[in-house]
Amino acid sequence: MLTDNERLAELLFGNIDKTTEYFEEKYPQRNLKEGARVTRFAPSPTGYLHMGGLFGALTDILTAKASGGVSMLRIEDTDKKREVGDGVDAIIDGFSAFDLVFDEGVTGKDSQTGDYGPYTQSKRVEIYQTVAKQLVIEGKAYPCFCTADELSALRERQEKEGAAFCGYYGKWAKCRDLTYEQIEEKIKNGEPYVLRFRSDGDEEKRIVFDDIIRGKIEMPENVIDEVLLKSDGIPTYHFAHVCDDHFMRTTHVIRGEEWISSTPKHVALFKACGFRTPKYAHTPQVMKIDEEDGTKRKLSKRKDPEAAVSYFVEEGYPKEALIEYLMGLLNSNFEDWRRANPTADVFEFPFNLKKMSPSGCLFDLVKLADVSKNAVSVMKAQTVFERAYKWAETYDKELYKLFGENTEKAIAILNIDRENPKPRKDIAKWSEIKDYVSYFYNSLYKENYTLPEKITGEDASKIIETYKAIYDVNDDKQVWFDKIKALCEPLGFTPNVKEYKKTPEAFKGHVGDVSTVIRVALTGRTNTPDLHAIMQILGAQEVKERLNKAERIFKEVK
Ligand code: GLU
Repeated sequence: MLTDNERLAELLFGNIDKTTEYFEEKYPQRNLKEGARVTRFAPSPTGYLHMGGLFGALTDILTAKASGGVSMLRIEDTDKKREVGDGVDAIIDGFSAFDLVFDEGVTGKDSQTGDYGPYTQSKRVEIYQTVAKQLVIEGKAYPCFCTADELSALRERQEKEGAAFCGYYGKWAKCRDLTYEQIEEKIKNGEPYVLRFRSDGDEEKRIVFDDIIRGKIEMPENVIDEVLLKSDGIPTYHFAHVCDDHFMRTTHVIRGEEWISSTPKHVALFKACGFRTPKYAHTPQVMKIDEEDGTKRKLSKRKDPEAAVSYFVEEGYPKEALIEYLMGLLNSNFEDWRRANPTADVFEFPFNLKKMSPSGCLFDLVKLADVSKNAVSVMKAQTVFERAYKWAETYDKELYKLFGENTEKAIAILNIDRENPKPRKDIAKWSEIKDYVSYFYNSLYKENYTLPEKITGEDASKIIETYKAIYDVNDDKQVWFDKIKALCEPLGFTPNVKEYKKTPEAFKGHVGDVSTVIRVALTGRTNTPDLHAIMQILGAQEVKERLNKAERIFKEVK
């Protein structure tokens, strides 16, 4: 003879012929070494990868790697309202742009890898319903036929009567005690229903759970009869997370701090299902200092372009620089480790969840730019070229064309002041390169003949006039510089900077000013990498033309 609960389970889940034991066997305990951690990153396919997501995914991968465990990418697509068509691709592309690879899980729109899948929640409905059926058999879940109107009327009543809190629970939960016959009748009449958890929580009791980042957290026990399955049989996040993390054998649930308040619910569900509760780590939010009012606030999808991971791809930040920067935000001892292990792979870093700060971490584009400039400064010119060229193919057609027309020239430009012990640190991202190289290409070059204040137009045109006569493209750097020094005295400047500093009133300026005039004439800038190398690349003809034009223009300066 079936019990009422068993009859109810058949009535609600006649389509389910498997048992939870079946899935226990299908997804056995993982055979990993002691202490290995199994983590998962579980985004909804909203088509938008937030910086916080990259941060979270990195935390998952590092935690798994540092312990010899497994990281997974699970797509949580049970909320169809949040989903967009190519949402999964956007997430996968975001991770692959930064070389973040999970050991298991979704790898593309229709592909996945690993033995604990499917890794997309909408393909796991049978698992959720099997667990739900078991809960019904055990009297821990029941169908609720209350309509949205009834639920809002309930809320009003609870507010009026001063209930301890609002929600579907205890004496307020009117579908809790429907008989089998009543339920059968309603189902026959086609009344829609959700499946609710029958909570045995106590309003007076509190639970304590350990959060790896935050330590012990104490909260009121859950008493709410939470919805497990919606009326279409699809689970809520709460229930799906519990089933998935159990059957995927997740040991550590690392997720955003916005989930702390739901954790008592999840702990209760794990217990009711007879599953072991995983360890939790709630990560802090990614913050920034607001440009307008100087306050610290959450990085916002609406206000901050840098909240989107795609921004860093579009701007052409070198992938390793962003990861390197995020590592420093995740664990403050990363920078010391990096100094001791300058060439090691970031994933060799002994990452520790406990060393994460529970308060929000501050994302600062200026600091990122510093990290990035360092990273680019130690790359070979060939590498900078290849990566910038690849980036430009998608994001800057004009640069792509110019570089493609003469790759040797591009590499020579990028090689100026590079591959030496003190390389320049001018470039933080590939999108800065066009401006950086602009004066080498007439189609990009923006002439600018603004002179430093202390130099008159007349002196400048004299410098250029005299220099033109002695310039020789074949001069090596020493001869080239000696010639510039030789220009100084006859024109009232000194080749000796120290001398100038002692008696500035005796001179119009020093050799640095003379070379600045030549620099402005040739590049439109007062600060550039090595001018001799620049002139070599420009070539004699272009140098002469630019000098002629500058001489004319300087002459006219009043
Ligand atoms: N799908 C949830 C979210 O996008 C994931 C939370 C979790 O990691 O458990 O916030």
